[in-house]
Amino acid sequence: MSTSETIVKKGTCPVCGNGCHLLAHVADGRVVSTEPDPDSVMNRRLCERGAATVEYHTHPQRLNYPLKRLGGRGQGKWQRIGWEQAMDEIAATLGGIRDRYGTEAVAVLGGSPHGPGDPAAWKWCNLWGTPNFFHLGKNCGEAEFLAECAVYGYDTVTSWAEGIDPQKTAVAVMWGANASQSAPGLWRSWRRAQEKGTKVIVVDPRPTDCTALADIWLQLRPGTDGALALGMLNVIIEEGLYDRGFVEKWCTGFDQLSELARRYPPAEASRITRVPPEDIVRAARMYATARAALLSYGVANCHLGSGAGLSGVLGKCWLRAITGNIDREGGNRFSDWPQYTAFLDEVDWEYQINHPIRTRDNVSAHRWPIASVKALEMYREAMKKVYPKGWGAAQYVIYPAPYYLWKAILDDDPYPIKAMISQGTNTLCSMGNSRHAYDALKSDKLELHVAMDHFMTPTAAIADYVLPATDALERPNMINMWGMSNAYIGREAAVSPLHQRHDDYQLWCDLGARLGQGDMWPSTLEGWFDRLLEPASVSFSDFARSWGYTPPREYQRYEKTGFGTFSGKVELAPGIFTKLGYDPMEGYREPPQSPVSTPEIAQDYPLILISGSRVRAYHHSSHRQVDSLRQRYPHPLLQINPATASGLGIADGEEVYIETPLGRVKQRAQLVEGLPPDVVHADGYWWYPEMPEAEPSLFGVWESNIDSILPDDPGVCDYTGDSYFRGLLCRVYRAVEKQPAIKRT
Ligand code: SF4
Repeated sequence: MSTSETIVKKGTCPVCGNGCHLLAHVADGRVVSTEPDPDSVMNRRLCERGAATVEYHTHPQRLNYPLKRLGGRGQGKWQRIGWEQAMDEIAATLGGIRDRYGTEAVAVLGGSPHGPGDPAAWKWCNLWGTPNFFHLGKNCGEAEFLAECAVYGYDTVTSWAEGIDPQKTAVAVMWGANASQSAPGLWRSWRRAQEKGTKVIVVDPRPTDCTALADIWLQLRPGTDGALALGMLNVIIEEGLYDRGFVEKWCTGFDQLSELARRYPPAEASRITRVPPEDIVRAARMYATARAALLSYGVANCHLGSGAGLSGVLGKCWLRAITGNIDREGGNRFSDWPQYTAFLDEVDWEYQINHPIRTRDNVSAHRWPIASVKALEMYREAMKKVYPKGWGAAQYVIYPAPYYLWKAILDDDPYPIKAMISQGTNTLCSMGNSRHAYDALKSDKLELHVAMDHFMTPTAAIADYVLPATDALERPNMINMWGMSNAYIGREAAVSPLHQRHDDYQLWCDLGARLGQGDMWPSTLEGWFDRLLEPASVSFSDFARSWGYTPPREYQRYEKTGFGTFSGKVELAPGIFTKLGYDPMEGYREPPQSPVSTPEIAQDYPLILISGSRVRAYHHSSHRQVDSLRQRYPHPLLQINPATASGLGIADGEEVYIETPLGRVKQRAQLVEGLPPDVVHADGYWWYPEMPEAEPSLFGVWESNIDSILPDDPGVCDYTGDSYFRGLLCRVYRAVEKQPAIKRT
C-alpha cells in the first residue's frame, strides 16, 4: 500500500530479461516495494524472482563503485576508483592492444541481458572491428536458430514466446524446453490452452511438471532427439500425412529427406531412443494431422554435442516444414524484424562485413564456419529476400566458440586475444570446461579483463576492473528481443541510479567516445532510445508512457516474398550448410559420449548425465545471494532414480560426488521417481556467494559447478561450437566415502 510519502512509478522488473512490468513504490528517491502492474499486457504477476525485486535492488552485496585490482588476479584486493578514471585507463589499454595486435584482439562476452547492454556491445564491436563477441545466445539456442534461418530464411523464436491460443493451435509440442521452470508465464498459457482442448506433446527424458500434464510424453534417451524426429518424419512421410501442396510448391530437398527418413521406421527409432514405437506413431499422427500445430523452440537440442545436435535441430525444422506449420496461424509464426525502429542501422552491422581495419574472421571460424563472418555474409545474401537489409540472423551467427577464445589467449591460436570485456556474464559458471576459461582469464598473456555486473562473481573476481551496473529499476528500459522482434516494451527508470552504478550502455558509449567512435554514440541511453525510435516519430519518454508496441500479426508472408534462402523456398537440405561443408542429410549420430558410442568410457562412467537446465528460483548463475530465493532452493540438486540411488547406498538429500573424466563436484541427491535408472540430472551454474572471494575459494566455484567438469573440446561441441551439456557420461557416489576420483585428464 502506498502512504502519503510514497509515489507509485511504472517500472520494469530488474531481475531477468523478460522485462515484466511492475509498479514501484518510491519514497525519498528509494524503491521501497513493488507489485505487479495490473495494466500490463504482459504478465500480470511477478515470478518468485520478480517478487524479490527490492531485495535484489538494495542487496548489500551489490557492486556500487568501480573497482581496480590490487595485487594478483583473484586475491580479492581492490581499490575504489571513479568511473572516468576507469574509462580513461581501459580505453588507453584497448587502444594500445589495437595498435600492437589488431582490433580482433579484443573479445567481448555478454550474458544476462541488462537492457540495451547487448545491442550496445554489438554496436561497439562492429564499429571497433572485432568479430569476437560472444553472447548468452551461444548457450541459449544459437544452433537451433541458425538451422531455422538456413532452412526457412526466417526464425520462429518469438512464436514460441507468444503463448498459445486454443482456438488456433490444436496441438502444441514442447521439445527441448521445460517451460514450467524456464518460462512459468508461458507454461500457464499452455495449461490454459490444454484445458480448452489443445493437445500437448512433451519430449523430455526427465519427468517434469510439463510431462505430468502431457497428453503424450515421449521419454527419450538423452541425446537421441534427432532419431526421434526422423522416426516421426518416417511415419508422416510413409503415411502421406505431410502437407503435399505446401511441399510441392515451397520445399526443395523433399526426396533427400524422404530417403533419409526411410532409414528410421518406428522400430528403429524406438531402438535408438527407447520411446515405444506406438508412441512415436501416435505423436507423429497427432502432430501432422492437426489443423495447426506449434512445435516449440528450445535450447536442449543445441547441447547434445557433435552430430547428435545437428540432427536434433534440423529434425524439428523438418517436422514444421513438411506439415506446413510454418508461418501459419496457430503454428510457428515467423518472427518480425524491427522495421519501425532504427535498431538494425544503429547496431551498425554493415561494419561487421566491411570494416576498414579488421582483416580476420573470429577465432573459431576455421573450425565452426557456420558461426562466422563468412556465414553472416551468406545468411545476409539469402535473407535479403525477406529482410530488406538481410540482417535477420546477424546477432546469432558470428559468435565464436569459447574453446577457441581461451586457446587464442593461451596459445595465440589462431591469433592472440589480449583483452576481454565481460558484461553481465559469469563465464566460470556457464560454459563447458570452465577450468579452461579460468586458465585463460588468469593468464598473464591476457593484458586486460574488465567485468561489469550487479554482483561480484567468480568471473569478476579474477578481472582487472570491475564496474557496477544499474538494474532495470534505475535505468530506462526498451526491449525487443535483441532485434528479433518488432514488438517493443519500454519503461522509464523508477529511480536514479544508486551509488555510482552506471547503465551498460554507458560503458560502450564512454569507451567509444575515447576511441574514435565519436558521434556514433548519443551521450545518454535515453538519447539512444530517441534515435532508435526516430522512424516511429515518437520520443522515448512518450513511448515509455504507453505499454509498448506490438505489430499486427501477419501470416504466410512467403506467399508475397518467398523464403529467405538462396532458392527462395524452404531448403530441407539448406544451401548454406552445404556451401560451408556440413552434411545436413547425414542423419542421426550418437552423442560424442554414450553407452553406445563410447562403451569404454561407459565402463567407468555408467550414468547418462543431463545438465544445462533452469530452475525457477534462479536466472542461470545469478541470484544465489538473494536470501528469499536461496531459502527456496538452498542447494544444487542431483536428480537420480530411487532404485539407482539405493544400489549406490545414496539417501535422499545426501551429498554426492558427480564425476566425469574431467573431475568431480558435489551436489545433493534428490530421488526422482520416473527418471530412467541410468540417467541423472545435475543442476547447472552453481557458486556460493557466501564463501570467500579470494582464491583458492573464488566463491566456491569449484565445489558444485557442473560446468567445470563438462568438456569444451572441438570434437564434442555441436556444429556451431555450442557447449555439450546433455547426454554425457558420469558416475555418482556418496561424498562421505574416502574414494578418490578414478581418472583425470
Ligand atoms: S524475474 Fe520474473 S517477474 Fe522479473 S522479469 Fe523475469 S520473469 Fe518477469
